[in-house]
Amino acid sequence: MSEPMNYLDGNAAAGELSKIFAMDVTAAEGQCAHCGAKRRFAEAHLYVQCPGVVARCAVCERVLLRLVNARQRAFLDMRGMTYLRLDTA
Ligand SMILES: [Zn+2]
Repeated sequence: MSEPMNYLDGNAAAGELSKIFAMDVTAAEGQCAHCGAKRRFAEAHLYVQCPGVVARCAVCERVLLRLVNARQRAFLDMRGMTYLRLDTA
């Protein structure tokens, strides 16, 4: 038997990310800095059982993005992504 999923999909980050980005990041394509996979952010595995949210690559499970809100400040770490391509059309 497989392990039960303990993550949500990247769409669940839409609310938190909309506080920072004017555009919908979940529809954007990003490239994993670790394995090079190019996927829509919505396909990332989102972990919310932590102070903030952690998005992991759906292919290699390495961290793509971390977002923590603390003392009225948001800390955003996107080192796990080579790029995030937003459709401006
Ligand atoms: Zn990856």
